[in-house]
Amino acid sequence: MRWLCVFSGFLWLGCNSSVVSSDLEANTDLELIDTIEAPPEPVIEWQQGQFQSGVVFFDQMIEAGVPANTTQEIIDVLRPVYDFRKSQTSHYWSLGRQDGELVAFTLDVSPILAYQISFGEDGPVLERNDVPLRTIPEMVHGTIDSSLFGALQHEDQGATLAMKLARVFAWDIDFYQDPRKGDQIEILVERSYIETDDGLVFYEFGEILAARYVGARESYDAYLFEDEDGDPAYFNAKGQSLIRDVLRSPLKFQRITSKFTNRRFHPILKKNKPHRGVDYGAPVNTPVMAVAKGKVISAGRNGGAGIAVELQHRGQMVTQYFHLNKIAKGVKRGSAVKQGQVIGYVGQTGYATAPHLHFGMKLRGKYVDPLRQKFEPGLPVPSHRMPDFTALVENLSEQFGVGSMGVEVAERQDSQ
Ligand SMILES: [Zn+2]
Repeated sequence: MRWLCVFSGFLWLGCNSSVVSSDLEANTDLELIDTIEAPPEPVIEWQQGQFQSGVVFFDQMIEAGVPANTTQEIIDVLRPVYDFRKSQTSHYWSLGRQDGELVAFTLDVSPILAYQISFGEDGPVLERNDVPLRTIPEMVHGTIDSSLFGALQHEDQGATLAMKLARVFAWDIDFYQDPRKGDQIEILVERSYIETDDGLVFYEFGEILAARYVGARESYDAYLFEDEDGDPAYFNAKGQSLIRDVLRSPLKFQRITSKFTNRRFHPILKKNKPHRGVDYGAPVNTPVMAVAKGKVISAGRNGGAGIAVELQHRGQMVTQYFHLNKIAKGVKRGSAVKQGQVIGYVGQTGYATAPHLHFGMKLRGKYVDPLRQKFEPGLPVPSHRMPDFTALVENLSEQFGVGSMGVEVAERQDSQ
């Protein structure tokens, strides 16, 4: 495997470039390694393999010619740091032999983490090799032709970056509907690189630090900063939160079966009873999400509501989730929940004729129709942090293609 070539100067002696996973092949930096000549006399010969599902590691070693007692030694040495039950086919092992005798064993857990056992006179010695990553913020540009994914496909791991961007703008842009041909994307994103003797090799994208979407219909920008709790969050250039403080729905895919009404004939109680919430038909065990950050007021059996969860949010808002099949782990009275966190699963407990979620909402103690609420953006940048935030925006927007966002939008419209 070529990963071995990347992280250890001495290991690449035994590398066989014929075994290369396809996503690595696209990486031109890695290709460089082929052009380096091996020193004239490699002293250690390497034999490599990967974990296979259904094949016990012990048997693999025996098949590779390692004596049973040495295999047991390898397992004993690794066990405190490596869980063999969680081994994956992406984990690679190599056996290093000198004059036919096993002198080293390495286990690549990821491109940035490996364990090495050296067999010397004093018995096996375990070493952990962490490959240091270097993170560099870099600008990525894209132009929409047909989709967001297409616009970033020229980037290695462009699909991952597209998903990250979609999450940043999730409240403003529907990336299936809104993009128009010619829309421009600029993303200032952290890129992590593995440092090798031959230079930096791209490993993965980190946080998006800032982004702009300049569209034919509308334009948006995002800057990563800290919210009032000191948690990372995205804001536009004015310091307004990009996140609405309440999700549109507690289910990912919804089908409304009964709306909020003050008069409704109740099929089980056989009388007119207001329906103070929205019913969503959904299969049993569909995950139910907290629509906003908050605290659990109650979680458990609650009469006709069945297994129910009630949450308290800021702005004197309470939300209710009834007829659950079960409550998610860790959701207990007093525990904190994040927006979008799964708090339970759809069921048919309590007064319910079919599996569904009853979702209720109270504002300042009064039931309201959740579907009729216009939710506010999350809290803006805290006022005492505004000077820092403004400085950040000024600094970052200089790195974007053209001046301030307003200017570019105006120019774009002129040219059409
Ligand atoms: Zn209901």
